[in-house]
Amino acid sequence: MRLLLIHTGGTLMMRGGDPTPLEPDVYTRDLVAELPVLRKLAEIETKILYNLDSADFQPHHWVELAETVHASLDRYDGFVIVHGTDTMAYTASALAFLLPGLDRPVILTGAQKPLADVRSDARTNLVDACHLATTRIPEVGIAFHSELLRGCRATKLDAWGMKAFGSPACPPLAELGLGVNLAGHVLAPRPRASFDGRLEPHVLAVRTFPGLDPRLLHGALAAGVRGMVIEAFGAGNVPRLENSLVPVLEAARAADVPVVIVSQSTRGAVDLTRYHGGVAAARAGAIGAGDMTTEAALTKLMIVLGRAADETGGRASAARAAFAASWAGEISL
Ligand code: ASP
Repeated sequence: MRLLLIHTGGTLMMRGGDPTPLEPDVYTRDLVAELPVLRKLAEIETKILYNLDSADFQPHHWVELAETVHASLDRYDGFVIVHGTDTMAYTASALAFLLPGLDRPVILTGAQKPLADVRSDARTNLVDACHLATTRIPEVGIAFHSELLRGCRATKLDAWGMKAFGSPACPPLAELGLGVNLAGHVLAPRPRASFDGRLEPHVLAVRTFPGLDPRLLHGALAAGVRGMVIEAFGAGNVPRLENSLVPVLEAARAADVPVVIVSQSTRGAVDLTRYHGGVAAARAGAIGAGDMTTEAALTKLMIVLGRAADETGGRASAARAAFAASWAGEISL
């Protein structure tokens, strides 16, 4: 078994903290040299791609990371990516969509406390990630706190506890106890696809709240936003009386700017037929994203828009078709 361990940064290898802020350590020590037990699992090569707090990740980092994995697929049986927890769910979602033809594991992991800390969760998470990367799970997953979550379903739920991630709409792909219990919904291997890193980053995510002034969204349209994700209430409802969002949704449709609706609720799904606020949004052209996370909806929208740039038929219709399909198990259909 040969694994590629890609370091991108995050708390796992940070130093400092209390009272100074944690910051990326100078990456002088090889993680595998630090944890030689990893060699018992596989032959592991390390690549240091970045050493960033993941709050500083940008979409071009996702593309470079995905391209690195894609270019190495034939040389390694599995991939482990060490990443900060703050934006790990965005990166995992982007990778799931940028690597559609996966036939081997791509496992992200990180830690709530640096490896050097006595009470660190880094060692377990890293060992679990490397172990999972030697299995035949052909998915982009997040290994954290003895669970493997589907990357494009995960979200960071906890900034204090050791179980940083949850995947409210999709059970874990695997649970690690004395052994490893694999779930039945792990995807089957998919045939390899050529790499397409096109992506449109000029999108906006907006949370609806009582009092949201729709003129701010008209301003975003005027400023050239190419797509929007609206985190609506409950089943996908938006205000339609005072401060109605319906006119701005209609303006977006007229400008061929797709608007995707996700829910602020962590459980349940968007259903734009259930209340008048959802029906009005759908009539104005909004696209319901079912039980997708905001992270998955945003990254998928960026990728769809990147590819729609030279497609005929319009960006909104490309987005509508894409959100009606599951690319990597990101939505329950
Ligand atoms: N700020 C850190 C990061 O995302 C947090 C972490 O790694 O847990 O890089």
